[in-house]
Amino acid sequence: MTTAIDYDPSIIGGIHSIYTGGMVDGPGIRTVLFLAGCSLRCLYCHNPDTWFRMRGNKKAVAEILDEVQKYSSYYKFSGGGITVSGGEPTDQPTFLKELLKACRANNIHSVLDTSGFSSPDIAEDILPYVDLLLLDFKAYDPDLYKKITSSTIERPLQTLRMARNLNVLTWIRYVLVPNLTDDLAQIREMSAFLKKYNNIEKVSVLPFHKHGEHKWDDTYTLKDTEPPSTELLLEVIDIFNN
Ligand code: SF4
Repeated sequence: MTTAIDYDPSIIGGIHSIYTGGMVDGPGIRTVLFLAGCSLRCLYCHNPDTWFRMRGNKKAVAEILDEVQKYSSYYKFSGGGITVSGGEPTDQPTFLKELLKACRANNIHSVLDTSGFSSPDIAEDILPYVDLLLLDFKAYDPDLYKKITSSTIERPLQTLRMARNLNVLTWIRYVLVPNLTDDLAQIREMSAFLKKYNNIEKVSVLPFHKHGEHKWDDTYTLKDTEPPSTELLLEVIDIFNN
């Protein structure tokens, strides 16, 4: 059954890659669409190959929808759907909005995986078509956020507030990096802050890993950083659970 929502199937987006059978970027079995382009430069980014829009393949909303719909039966039995990730998906707002509308019109569950670094007007325009927001909350302390991303924290905070105002179900993701994002006092403050948001259903702690290291050039600064210990990981999970 389709829902009566108008969308433009001809809008073109820059696509880095498509991954079918995803199990970690939202509920159920998902098709994960990585859009090309991101204006942040996170120190621990494991997808630096997605940073540049010009390197993406051009595809229309209709083409993506056709690809995604091939797996409808998997979504149905697993509670899955599409996850739009990147790069930063909101850097292509027109394409993203039309794609999300197309998914809504065709009853495909949509997840937006974002840093929250879009302008407020873009977030306000897009969030009503998102079924689940995966918000990468990189740090609570503004100085640490700046150190990680080279940008300021205001926009992600605005996105979080807007998601609450629009009642968009939200999962927070926090990347735990030893000697960078492992200050337990800061994590406690962040946990207390996030509790005020009743649209947040869960917080996932993602341990830093080295899988994307080979995609970097010599500007990578975390070469000597190892994944967090199990003890540290459990301690941080415990803070959020409490
Ligand atoms: S927002 Fe995501 S894609 Fe962009 S630099 Fe940060 S981790 Fe990488």
